Amino acid sequence: MSTDHRFLVVLDVDSTLINEEGLDEIARAVDQETGARIASVTERAMRGEIDFVQSLTERVALLAGVSQDVLAEAASSLSITPGAHELVSAVQEAGGKVCAVSGGFHELVDPLAREVGLDDWRANRFVIESGRLTGGIDGAIVDGAAKKDALAQWASQWGFQTPHTVAIGDGANDIPMLQSAGVSVGFCAKRAVQAVVDHTITERDLSQVLTLLGMTRG
Ligand SMILES: [Mg+2]
Repeated sequence: MSTDHRFLVVLDVDSTLINEEGLDEIARAVDQETGARIASVTERAMRGEIDFVQSLTERVALLAGVSQDVLAEAASSLSITPGAHELVSAVQEAGGKVCAVSGGFHELVDPLAREVGLDDWRANRFVIESGRLTGGIDGAIVDGAAKKDALAQWASQWGFQTPHTVAIGDGANDIPMLQSAGVSVGFCAKRAVQAVVDHTITERDLSQVLTLLGMTRG
């Protein structure tokens, strides 16, 4: 391990930076039946059984007509994963950067990203008209390829060489980003992810990444 501990760390959000799946929490805030339908599509997508973009499009379409007030309600039910604050501050104190890229939505990710103190983040955005979700997604969808591109762009922007890039995720759409990073970490990951990563963390404690990077204090 190099003694240069300046890393770019890029985290997935749903089930990685936070303990929940954001879209499932939105669905739960709407009604039970919609919640169950959306959760079942999420689970299949996470296992890589169906295409991420198609599954996301389908799930968001189920939300057409829903009041944007449910977004705030869903956001209040999200919790930041243990060890996240410790990971972010240690990496930043060492001169590194910490970012997140999410196939979820800005409306939920923005408050969390600010609370944790991320350097930058990307996510999808709902189309909202007259206070209601239209069931559409604004602009290009953040999928697996876009996650990989985000990591590459941040690395280029701040001058991190590949061995100093770290990707952390749990789902099938994190695989391209994980495979492109110098250090890949499966975090309580699905089996398809565990098969391709350098390191696996099985406890919900993001500070364990610091040990993998040789940054443990003490
Ligand atoms: Mg995830």
